[in-house]
Amino acid sequence: MLDEIDVTGICHCGKIKITAKVKKSETRACHCTDCQKFSGAPFRAIAVAPRGKFSIQGTPKEYIKIGDSGNKRIQAFCSDCGTQLFATNMEKTLFNIRTGFLDQKNDLKPNQHVFTTSSMTWI
Ligand SMILES: [Zn+2]
Ligand SMILES: [Zn+2]
Repeated sequence: MLDEIDVTGICHCGKIKITAKVKKSETRACHCTDCQKFSGAPFRAIAVAPRGKFSIQGTPKEYIKIGDSGNKRIQAFCSDCGTQLFATNMEKTLFNIRTGFLDQKNDLKPNQHVFTTSSMTWI
């Protein structure tokens, strides 16, 4: 079974399209408080693609999150419909793509759960 798959996704309003190659084994769910806040959901699931395996049509709005350590990360979303698309480093070398808008989301079962100390108490 191939670990690397092609994924495609389109935001709710259709303005932004993403295609990428991701490894299913690298899918993870993040339960950190930032992910909860940004997503409006109990946790966020992501698939990872390096720059050469990621392409986008359309221009997302970018919000720069500054972490407690001073580390900056880009949070990209559609400025029209608000669909969360990906997070990346300032150099844009590695993309953490939100799985919820990907057509292949059922193939992207999180392999790892991180920051579970802040997960919802009912999970
Ligand atoms: Zn949109
Ligand atoms: Zn997180």
